[in-house]
Amino acid sequence: MIDKLVSKRVIGLEGYKAEADVQGIALDKNEIPWSLSSKVKEAIFRRLRAMEFNRYPDSGCTELKAAISGYTGVDASGIAVGNGSDELITVVLQTFINPGDTIAVHNPSFSVYKIDGTVCGARVWEYDLDKNFGMKLEEFIGCLQKEKPKLVFLCNPNNPTGSMLELSDIEQILIKTDGIVVVDEAYFEFSELTAVGLLSDYENLIILRTFSKAFGLAALRVGYMLASASIIGFIDRVRATYNVNAFAQAAAIEVLKDLDTVMERIEIIRSERERLTALLKKLEGLQCFESRSNFLLIRSAYADEMYKKLQEAGVYVRGFSNAMLKDCIRVTVGSSVENDRFYEVAKEVLDGKGR
Ligand code: PMP
Repeated sequence: MIDKLVSKRVIGLEGYKAEADVQGIALDKNEIPWSLSSKVKEAIFRRLRAMEFNRYPDSGCTELKAAISGYTGVDASGIAVGNGSDELITVVLQTFINPGDTIAVHNPSFSVYKIDGTVCGARVWEYDLDKNFGMKLEEFIGCLQKEKPKLVFLCNPNNPTGSMLELSDIEQILIKTDGIVVVDEAYFEFSELTAVGLLSDYENLIILRTFSKAFGLAALRVGYMLASASIIGFIDRVRATYNVNAFAQAAAIEVLKDLDTVMERIEIIRSERERLTALLKKLEGLQCFESRSNFLLIRSAYADEMYKKLQEAGVYVRGFSNAMLKDCIRVTVGSSVENDRFYEVAKEVLDGKGR
């Protein structure tokens, strides 16, 4: 009976699969391997002790937006905060999409754009990246001009491939399309390449960021959007009034006060990424793609076996059902001990193939 009542848009939907909390080495969700520093935790607890839990949180996230403004250089009028950047993806779609409008996504990419787009009644047009996950820019732009999407989602660096479009490519897309271009910079801190400098010239640009990755605040769900004040005005009409709870706001404010720790950690992850990439590239029977993020995509005929053996060894990585990601697994760059453990198990599987 419920099947008959459910929206047509939802009935065939696969949904986003989030693994339960894993017991072991979690290299499956692109988190950083460290909890907040005790200094930041203490500062958050001080705020919590003074918090009036009977009161609604600040709907405008005033103090947090001021802090984000300091970090990004974007005026507070060009910032919206969300319950994770996941929520902001939904709100962008709700703000711009009428049923039947087209959105453009590249494939593979973060699957939530397509899932949420479908729920909002969008027609999802997908552009397949090439075999090594590169984009033919002219071809992509030509298709955009034909398909005329209202929203174009660019994931930069791209999850799960780790690859990036350069700023000049993004600018070309902004110039040559009439729709809104959403650049998801969830992993910006690991790449250091941002489209923020383009905001003042292009009012059709939206940038999404998150506190879940480099800032290590995934548990509290804080993401933010940078865009023109006119876009933010519409977003503010659509989002839930109290979408970011008081605890999350307080924590994000305190995390931004300790940027030195954040930067030190980013440096460690970047150097671990290079170390692990170099190790993996030496292995036969496995292709490791260059990544500018905090994860690596690996392709191997033995990927399924690797996934299983890793799980048996208590190391959790991400597998995929997407046909373009056949024989691929994605591994988050963790601490050096975690990365070594991942490498040992992967190598063991390949060694067992008598190479
Ligand atoms: N965008 C991308 C590309 C992601 O990989 C993720 C998380 N996996 C998100 C957005 C959502 O992040 P959050 O909701 O935690 O801010």
